[in-house]
Amino acid sequence: MFALPVSRTAVWAHPALRVVMNAFNGAEGVTRTRGVAVTTEWQKFVAEHPPRNGVPAGQGLPAGELLFRIPLAPERMTASASTFSLQVGPEGHVNALDLENEMWVCMNHACTPTASATIAVVDDVVDVSAAVDLAPGAAVTFDYNTTEAFLADPFTCSCGAPSCVGSVAGYTTLSVDQRRARPVVAPYLLASSSSSPSSTSSTSL
Ligand SMILES: [Zn+2]
Repeated sequence: MFALPVSRTAVWAHPALRVVMNAFNGAEGVTRTRGVAVTTEWQKFVAEHPPRNGVPAGQGLPAGELLFRIPLAPERMTASASTFSLQVGPEGHVNALDLENEMWVCMNHACTPTASATIAVVDDVVDVSAAVDLAPGAAVTFDYNTTEAFLADPFTCSCGAPSCVGSVAGYTTLSVDQRRARPVVAPYLLASSSSSPSSTSSTSL
């Protein structure tokens, strides 16, 4: 069984992603994007591998490959959402302890994502796996509407997918059709009686 880590550096990331991350560790010119420290070299790499921003896969990875394993250790949990948290239960949100190195925080939203998350209750971890085959340099993206009831910081999506919801504000704001278009949704969202779509929820489309 996976043991909960006690150190700040025990978050697992796929070796291919670590190769990319480590290639830029220690480089000069550190700036911050979305509150996460990154290097100018990292930004250059990401810019050269569209779609821009987010976490690029360091090498080709097959669908189903485990990309990140995030422990649900008590010191990581909060009762409310933040810009960088990931909802894992009706009132539980997991946070990074080290924003500079926990690259799962950098996954950008996409309405047709390249990665998805599953919550392994038994092992108290969140596994983020490739949803599709990832080409080298492909962005590792994630559909925020499949885990978050409400986003702490809603935004307008420009992912360009035919199924793009436009305004990304959380699962509770999706229309019935938008919910049906998402085959993998966190169980606490499906079970929540407060997440029933309103009759006007589709008007933003
Ligand atoms: Zn979109």
